[in-house]
Amino acid sequence: MAMKVYNTLTKKKEEFQPIEEGKVRMYVCGPTVYNYIHIGNARPMITFDTVRRYFEYKGYTVNYVSNFTDVDDKIIKKALEEGVSTKEISERYIQSVKEDMEALNIMPATKNPKATEEIDGMIAMISQLIEKGHAYEKNGTVYFRTRSFGEYGKLSKKNIDDLEAGHRAIKVAGEEDKEDPLDFVLWKPKKDGEPFWSAPWGDGRPGWHIECSVMSKKYLGEQIDIHAGGEDLIFPHHENEIAQSEAANGKEFSKYWMHNGFLNINNEKMSKSKGNFFTVRDIGKKFPYDVLRFFMLSGAHYRMPLNFSEELMEAAKNSLERIKVSVERLTDLEKNTSKRELAEEDQLLMDKFKVLNKKFDDAMEDDFNTADAIAAIFEMVKIANVEIQADSNEAVVTQVKQMICTLMHIMGVSVEPKEEVLEADIEALIAQRQQARKDKDFAKADAIRDELLEKGIVLKDTREGVKWSRA
Ligand code: AMP
Ligand code: ZN
Repeated sequence: MAMKVYNTLTKKKEEFQPIEEGKVRMYVCGPTVYNYIHIGNARPMITFDTVRRYFEYKGYTVNYVSNFTDVDDKIIKKALEEGVSTKEISERYIQSVKEDMEALNIMPATKNPKATEEIDGMIAMISQLIEKGHAYEKNGTVYFRTRSFGEYGKLSKKNIDDLEAGHRAIKVAGEEDKEDPLDFVLWKPKKDGEPFWSAPWGDGRPGWHIECSVMSKKYLGEQIDIHAGGEDLIFPHHENEIAQSEAANGKEFSKYWMHNGFLNINNEKMSKSKGNFFTVRDIGKKFPYDVLRFFMLSGAHYRMPLNFSEELMEAAKNSLERIKVSVERLTDLEKNTSKRELAEEDQLLMDKFKVLNKKFDDAMEDDFNTADAIAAIFEMVKIANVEIQADSNEAVVTQVKQMICTLMHIMGVSVEPKEEVLEADIEALIAQRQQARKDKDFAKADAIRDELLEKGIVLKDTREGVKWSRA
């Protein structure tokens, strides 16, 4: 089956055909760094990281670029409130986003450009747009001449005349000199106390949309395979990016446009402005980070809205635990299985898993249906729990375990039990407790168990003996 990607540009699932064989050039709009990111912001990060992982599993080399918007009104406002520089704010939150992304097991991007380090490129593209008649300067502000780009509206399917009618009534302070209400800002003049750069049109700073056109071009080239972000970016951000890039480069900008649906709370978009948000860190205190990631990927198709609640997170936690317990059991069995020859029944069992692996791939190739892909993993777990036992062939046990781990790795969730070494004093306490239990001194055994719990070690008595995990 060919890989199918839903393209917002054509509103259809299309077969993925890379510009260059075996390579994917991908740009994902990143966060504006003025605060801790909320779990809604984490949805595109997790979604498109998983898309990337799947491409890599299929043998593609992915050049993955995602920016940090580190010059913006909100950053300036925050800096003024705290009485510190905008740089201090943006560096602080870039650091925090990187920590959150690492916790969510988002693979490091090939490049995370920062807008403030790419101003030269923006000035060059704006100059080019002016030369070509697609932009003009008025009193230190440069505007994009929207009507000069004939295909404006092609991504968001908006009609330019309808837009015009809607815009006429809206007057934006400082943008009185526009030729047309549809025009948008590429460069704005500096104001007191704001960061600025020198440009042919005077000191100032770039508009938001031009950043992405420039950074994408610099790190990926004039034409890219995939441009992605949350669906709120379709208009105006991505529509404006297309206008700028295609007007400047004279080429189609991105072949595929991918957009994730919103993460909602009580069926309302989670957003900073509404105040109905949880930061990734808030949730990280209540649930392991891998549960959040697993929840996002198992809860809904990425283009669908996804409702967040603690109950749903609890359910995701339990589901993920089922996979982990199954893999842990396979790991134990691996050490104990017989070294007997591969029998026909083993082959038949392996065939069942291969069919499910195909089911996983088919789900992912159908526009990255992670929820269905995870359902295939659950089917594997179910069969493994019943059909793989102590008398199973060693190679089968290992292959099944590897298969589940590999597929979960594409989801960005590690399910392999970590071979952790315990500190000697904890090892000793566990041994003492075992002895106490043997001696039927249950009061002592319980006391040691509590002591271990205080040290963050949870004990579980199983048929195979005592097991421990970190709380
Ligand atoms: P922002 O910092 O607001 O520009 O957002 C960064 C990224 O998060 C963009 O791709 C947004 O589309 C995305 N985003 C923001 N809120 C949500 C949400 N509630 N659900 C899904 N994606 C979101
Ligand atoms: Zn962008």
